[in-house]
Amino acid sequence: MAMLQDILPRIVEDMQGIAERGQVANYIPPLACVDPSKFGMAVVEADGTFHRFGDADEPFSIQSVSKVFGLTLALDAVGDSLWQRVRQEPSGSAFNSIIQLESEHGIPRNPFINAGAIVVSDILVSCFGRVGAENALLNLLRPLARDPASVVIDRVMAQQEAQTGFRNLALGNYMRNFDNILNPVEQTLDFYFHQCALTMSCGQLAEMGAYLMTGGINPRTGERVMSTRQAQTVLALMMMCGHYDGSGAFAIRVGLPGKSGVGGGILAITPGVASVAVWSPGLNAQGNSLLGTLALERLVQATGWNVFRAS
Ligand code: GLU
Repeated sequence: MAMLQDILPRIVEDMQGIAERGQVANYIPPLACVDPSKFGMAVVEADGTFHRFGDADEPFSIQSVSKVFGLTLALDAVGDSLWQRVRQEPSGSAFNSIIQLESEHGIPRNPFINAGAIVVSDILVSCFGRVGAENALLNLLRPLARDPASVVIDRVMAQQEAQTGFRNLALGNYMRNFDNILNPVEQTLDFYFHQCALTMSCGQLAEMGAYLMTGGINPRTGERVMSTRQAQTVLALMMMCGHYDGSGAFAIRVGLPGKSGVGGGILAITPGVASVAVWSPGLNAQGNSLLGTLALERLVQATGWNVFRAS
């Protein structure tokens, strides 16, 4: 079988040659002005081997990929009691949908749609305070990176999200009506927007996700980030809910637990084998990276990493 160092540059070259790249998110200027021709891909293998190609060293806004890290922190802080406030089911709805909240009494379907991630943010603000939650998030992530100082929050991005985030504010207020947001909505949303504004490169994102490849352990330091059982829960949710209403198609095409963001990043995990990050800013109709998904599909075909494979 071909080796990763041969497979990856071929995929990156193929992707760089494709003209149809989808639509860059345009709801705020710092996302709208990202160059759609960017493409990066990085893999951290279980033995620590690190591969990165294309624009894999260029920082981008990880947006909703950050929901994986917020959930990790919250599960570590409050354990399974989190599931009293957020369910564990696929939504089949758009990332910012409000519709299910009415019939389901303000309890979001899962932690990876906006409503669920806002509840997770509220839990973190309750546990750590508004500023403390941001510090806790950075303290979780920075030890996972080789170059910790360059994992940052883009404050201009967060500010612009806040200025235009009327729908997220509506979600927060609606859930507050059901007593499922316990802090002032503005405070919880302020943390949520800052979490979404986490900025890092593809290479760093693959490093950040590596604890999910190893059952909850930071492979570089050997320190436990979360319990094995909770790491499995996060992966199961990524498989079922990581791509909004495109989650089913992603599971079938790629066959790996993954989480996307409107910045065009995707983190995908092959348990025990690899943590993979791709970045291509153009999105498909469901708001997931168009070429990022295609690149992961090619990678899995070439490596046999699909978790549903029989042998
Ligand atoms: N900050 C974005 C929002 O809440 C994240 C959306 C995404 O990446 O899917 O609208």
